[in-house]
Amino acid sequence: MEKAKNILTYNNVLRAMVALVIVLLLIIVALFFSRHDNIPGDQESGEFRSAVVVASGDTLSKLLTDQGFTNAQVLEIAGVLKSDADITGLRANSDKIEFIRADENSPVSKVVIIPSPWRQVEITPSADGGWKCTTLEIKPDRRAVYRTGEILDGDSFYLAGARAGIPDGILAEVYDLLAFEMDFERDVRAGQHFSVLYEENFADGKKVENGRVLAISFQALRGDVKMYRFKKSDGKTGYYDENGNGAIKSLKRTPINNARVTSSFSTSRKHPVLGYTRAHKGVDFRASTGTPIPAAGAGRVVARGYNNGHGNYIKLRHNASYETLYAHMSRFAKGVVVGTNVKQGQTIGYVGSTGLSTGPHLHYEIIKDGKHVNPLTVKLPAISNLGKEDKERFLEYRRTLDVGIEQLAKHPDWFIQL
Ligand SMILES: [Zn+2]
Repeated sequence: MEKAKNILTYNNVLRAMVALVIVLLLIIVALFFSRHDNIPGDQESGEFRSAVVVASGDTLSKLLTDQGFTNAQVLEIAGVLKSDADITGLRANSDKIEFIRADENSPVSKVVIIPSPWRQVEITPSADGGWKCTTLEIKPDRRAVYRTGEILDGDSFYLAGARAGIPDGILAEVYDLLAFEMDFERDVRAGQHFSVLYEENFADGKKVENGRVLAISFQALRGDVKMYRFKKSDGKTGYYDENGNGAIKSLKRTPINNARVTSSFSTSRKHPVLGYTRAHKGVDFRASTGTPIPAAGAGRVVARGYNNGHGNYIKLRHNASYETLYAHMSRFAKGVVVGTNVKQGQTIGYVGSTGLSTGPHLHYEIIKDGKHVNPLTVKLPAISNLGKEDKERFLEYRRTLDVGIEQLAKHPDWFIQL
């Protein structure tokens, strides 16, 4: 079979005009690759290898002694591991260690410690009769895979995503990203399509882990929501919409993932406890007691206390215009007091049912210029938009990636070699 040389990196995709030609080259049929996966890695000729997965109770000195190393050798090896590879001990159920000998009855000539799929530390005899260690960094073989799904009747995004074959961790990340832009309670309907392009990291032809989310598209009620991961010229990465505007908003509409909206924002509703009609100045999310409440955006704690209506509550100020309020908490997060600066996503407290509340939930308010606004519909500013040059680069990258995605949509078993 002819060997195709069709490796493509983002960096050499410079012209969207040649995108089509490139895509023909960059799409690799998974089948083709699977034939090349079984590269014999372990059976190098003239070597005898034995591998141990470090178990609890195993120490480096015990494992080395078991293999015939003397106490003096063990001490020396421990020394070079510490000074040259910053390894001071082995982690049970995680580190792997290999012993290599010329044949079954020879002494060990090489020890390989494998702390992660992307790093190997080799210990070999040095010229002066001692031992030396060398660290090998292994570059993951990154592949972008594409999955599409459809929301069915009575479905949740999680169910539909799992059915589409999107792994849990990736789904949670996608949910987190979309939560800046979408209201999962009201924007999700049967018949909607969504897609995710994400990385799978391979080593030696075997999948090791999922990588990052590269692109998302969701057919929301009020239009398609699209996000692309992009690295700016200053090296920082972010998510941007198809026009290059920052997709991560200053505040999240739904701070708690996958929490159902049980009561929406309204200027008049019958209060469940008080019984009479009054405005509901926020949105209620059902969640069990103790669920962490993340800050909807970066900000400073301007109020933390208790009142009869809100129970335990925290108010954050994010900038000159925006504040958010979180009520009915069972307790506050440790160290979060008035004056604390919090990051977006940092836990500030835990769901509860304190104050005027019929059951555990988060009552969440967004206050803009002193006025309560509907968190689910208010237009929120993006954290960062792209500068002129980055924007041009982004648009080119995005057009190229879209062509690739179009191909992957037609051939679900293909992937993009990154
Ligand atoms: Zn409420």
